[in-house]
Amino acid sequence: MNGYQSESEDNSPKPHRVCCLIEDKDRCKRLAGNACYSKRIQKTVAQKKLKLAAAESAGHIYICNYHKDMIQTARSKRKRKDSEDENDGQEVDVSILQTSTLRRYKRHFKLQTRPGLNKTQLVEVSKICTGVEF
Ligand SMILES: [Zn+2]
Repeated sequence: MNGYQSESEDNSPKPHRVCCLIEDKDRCKRLAGNACYSKRIQKTVAQKKLKLAAAESAGHIYICNYHKDMIQTARSKRKRKDSEDENDGQEVDVSILQTSTLRRYKRHFKLQTRPGLNKTQLVEVSKICTGVEF
């Protein structure tokens, strides 16, 4: 669901563990929950430049709820920049273009559109021809 291990059920009692994370050189002293410092979380931490690292001496990769929330919050604040990174800058964002540019573009490619298109519709039409330099 959200990439974390199941928190609802925990049948096998485990000894109390301390969160494995080091936050900005300070080893976290909170008790770890059932969430673990997975590859996916590590990726989020790296992307968000959170000052978190797993302590190898911990011997496990479970993290406390505090840090779990921190990472979760950071992830939910995904900004446009991330999606641009994923696209690797290949795609032209036609929505940032001026309507006049879009209309020129439309004419240039003799795109079949109805008259009086609004900008959103023009953007849709222009998306057909991504990869062309403006
Ligand atoms: Zn912690």
